[in-house]
Amino acid sequence: MGNEGNTLTYPTANEILNNSDFLELASILWQKTLANATSEVRYEFGSYVQWDPTDNSFSWVKVIQGKPTYGNDSATITYDPVYNRNDPAHKYICASFHTHTPMTTVSDSLLYRYSGPSPKDRFNAITTGLPGLVCDYSATRVYPNTPKNAAYQIYHNGPERRQ
Ligand SMILES: [Zn+2]
Repeated sequence: MGNEGNTLTYPTANEILNNSDFLELASILWQKTLANATSEVRYEFGSYVQWDPTDNSFSWVKVIQGKPTYGNDSATITYDPVYNRNDPAHKYICASFHTHTPMTTVSDSLLYRYSGPSPKDRFNAITTGLPGLVCDYSATRVYPNTPKNAAYQIYHNGPERRQ
């Protein structure tokens, strides 16, 4: 049972992040995150990353728009489907990916959040055994007045490759 017969060597987070087609897909979700962030509401976007070993290409399993987030609340997203390593349909899932949001709904200009994976993101990457990829601003702190188009990057947490 379990992973018996599964002889795939999954791509590492670095291999995924060095793939220009994947970076293009990620950039589209980042732009979508920025375009949907207003003074009223903001949303994370994300998906599991699916790998095609025949041509080493990547695609989204299903892009999800996170919960509408208001005011000072923390944005969240729940991936769909729920990952199950023993489900044959999930055989090619190799990582998770989601965006974090600008602080457009926060009115107190002194409030900030730290960029990069949250404690919950780290927990999820460890419990699923999947590399966690989080797209967020490059600056350590994100403020309400951080320009939407400020530099961003993709942070990796959790295992180096699917466990
Ligand atoms: Zn997150």
